[in-house]
Amino acid sequence: MPFIDLKAQYAALKDRIDARMQAVLDHGQYIMGPEVKELEERLAGWTGAAHCITVASGTEALLIALMALDLKPGDEVITSPFTFAATAEMIVLLGGRPVFVDIEPDTCNLDATLVEAAVTPRTKAIMPVSLYGQTADMDALNAIAARHGLAVIEDAAQSFGATYRGAKSGNLSTLGCTSFFPSKPLGCYGDGGAVFTSDAALAQACREIRVHGQSARYSHTRLGVGGRMDTLQCAVVLAKLERFEWELQRRHALGARYQRLLGEIGVERLAVRPERTCVWGQYTVFVDDRPRVQAALQARGIPTAVHYPKPLHHQGAYAAYAPADACPHAVRAAQRVLSLPMSADLTDAQQDRVVEALAACLRSA
Ligand SMILES: *Cc1c(COP(=O)(O)O)cnc(C)c1O
Repeated sequence: MPFIDLKAQYAALKDRIDARMQAVLDHGQYIMGPEVKELEERLAGWTGAAHCITVASGTEALLIALMALDLKPGDEVITSPFTFAATAEMIVLLGGRPVFVDIEPDTCNLDATLVEAAVTPRTKAIMPVSLYGQTADMDALNAIAARHGLAVIEDAAQSFGATYRGAKSGNLSTLGCTSFFPSKPLGCYGDGGAVFTSDAALAQACREIRVHGQSARYSHTRLGVGGRMDTLQCAVVLAKLERFEWELQRRHALGARYQRLLGEIGVERLAVRPERTCVWGQYTVFVDDRPRVQAALQARGIPTAVHYPKPLHHQGAYAAYAPADACPHAVRAAQRVLSLPMSADLTDAQQDRVVEALAACLRSA
């Protein structure tokens, strides 16, 4: 079985995707064509954010959001060390300093109770990561930010479709950044991403930074990047939105089923807080002796992945920002997390095979 079944998704949506892509080929506006604006309006409406700015990738979304906040060399951004590298990478690229704060061991999200102690006069923003499709404690983080005059950027690359107290991920803070990388909950067929905000000035800044800091054609009023999302990729996302509500329901059903079935065989699972819904951008559990479990599942034809095998402060590029013994929960999680096959097109029968294989593997331990 595939780890993420993109082929089944394409088969189900083939007519819509083909028609949407053909429409772009017919009108020929490959850059900033009408699908770009259409997608931005649809996604802003869907999340409730006043503005959506599509960009070249989730990484670019983070970069543009930080540039819109005018992050300066030496500025600090409080973030999680237990994430994909792009989160901290964009801070460092702008000369900023990632300040790693530990995660909650049961959700793997930034521990909001540890954040205020990490605030300094140089702190510019807090950047929580909605890891595996569940947001962090956004009320607590927004309150800390308000007390200290900071921005909050949600790295929502894995959580498009998730909710926090009924509000949508991406629209929970100053800026929200998501990714349309093919394997994310809402994916395109290449690279893509979006920034969400309800602050008109920040939205304008993001729009200008996306096209080389232009406030009008060939009028470069600020530093920017080449950060547009292709019209064709916007067309793919528009087609995928046609089935997105169904996919979310399916993800919730599969997530709940994994949680229940794996609980019955004693697997340690992620906690989902009652005021949040998780879209299971990854379905991740905790195991001891992970290499053995992975090999046993592989032998039964079950693909797995590790998100992520090392916390960022144990990676060469980021080791300077925290001592190796900092953030012990992130260090421990990196040794124990294991992601199982998950996508809206995973069938109950396939899921049963995963659970049975894991049960057999744990019995033989
Ligand atoms: C995927 C991901 C990104 C980067 O998104 P791209 O579209 O691949 O650039 C950033 N942060 C997290 C947490 C991610 O999972």
